[in-house]
Amino acid sequence: MTLVSFAHPTISKIGDKHWFHEINDSFPGQSFGLEVVRILHHSQSAFQDILVFESATFGNVLVLNGIVQCTEKDEFAYQELITHVPVMCHEKPAKVLVIGGGDCGVVRELVKHLEDGVEEIVMVEIDRAVIDLSIKYLPNMAKFHNHPKVKIVIEDGFKFLERLSSLEDSGKYDVIITDSSDPEGPAQEFFDTGYYGLLKNALKPDGIVAMQSSENIWLNLPYLCDLLNKTSQVFSNVEYCQCYMPSYTSGQLGLVIASPAKSRDLKNPVKNFDDRKDLFKYYNSKVHEASFVLPTWAANALEKR
Ligand code: SAM
Repeated sequence: MTLVSFAHPTISKIGDKHWFHEINDSFPGQSFGLEVVRILHHSQSAFQDILVFESATFGNVLVLNGIVQCTEKDEFAYQELITHVPVMCHEKPAKVLVIGGGDCGVVRELVKHLEDGVEEIVMVEIDRAVIDLSIKYLPNMAKFHNHPKVKIVIEDGFKFLERLSSLEDSGKYDVIITDSSDPEGPAQEFFDTGYYGLLKNALKPDGIVAMQSSENIWLNLPYLCDLLNKTSQVFSNVEYCQCYMPSYTSGQLGLVIASPAKSRDLKNPVKNFDDRKDLFKYYNSKVHEASFVLPTWAANALEKR
């Protein structure tokens, strides 16, 4: 008989079952839990604690530093929104850069746009181990990691962007997606004006950025106001949208979508693939528009910020 180990600080035995709980100072007083069938992998890489487990109801789950990054059950909602909102608002998103994104889910979604303008996809991920583990345990997410149009760079995204500071206009990106972990560990710098300045510098004047906001309207509205204010110091056109994500704390995740071009419409796509039913599972043009509509109390707070 093989002994199955459940040894990890986030996993505890309750009754006769093992449960993962996401307990973090960023989400005080609440915790998302999943029943664990077995641990598939646990290691400490040079950058973070990496846990992959098989859950009873959400498929395989990737956890970095104790925080859920994705589950096989609901990953498509986040990957599709963070990818298709910026790409569908751009007439020709030829050059796309992804910062982070080690599970390769955003890359999978970008590959869907090779026929409508995307020519080059570059992903800059700090931790090779996340990519390798995703190929092994999240194969549907990582299936295009070696696609000929995808270039993967293993480097700190912040440093990569710093190196681009002398970039000619022709080398700049049309869309940059920051698919990072939360603001602790190696992703800390992604939530401040220094990073937004680097993004703007690497972006064409009419380009679009999309960034995960790490919080949502239920968890920490003042933090979101602050984040949007910081983004507005660098970009003249800043919007906030959100998607349902049962496996992220409070069940939602927000994205900051921004552009240096004030006239660019970020809330309405310029393309419509609604008749291609096989392409997207979460995204469609109505979802795009609706994702920017917030409940009254949250909309008021963000407007007054
Ligand atoms: N969808 C997820 C979420 O919202 O939590 C993020 C998924 S993806 C796995 C996050 C990736 O960002 C991780 O693979 C992590 O290694 C990477 N990352 C963190 N800091 C980074 C940095 N400084 N440069 C490049 N990648 C970074």
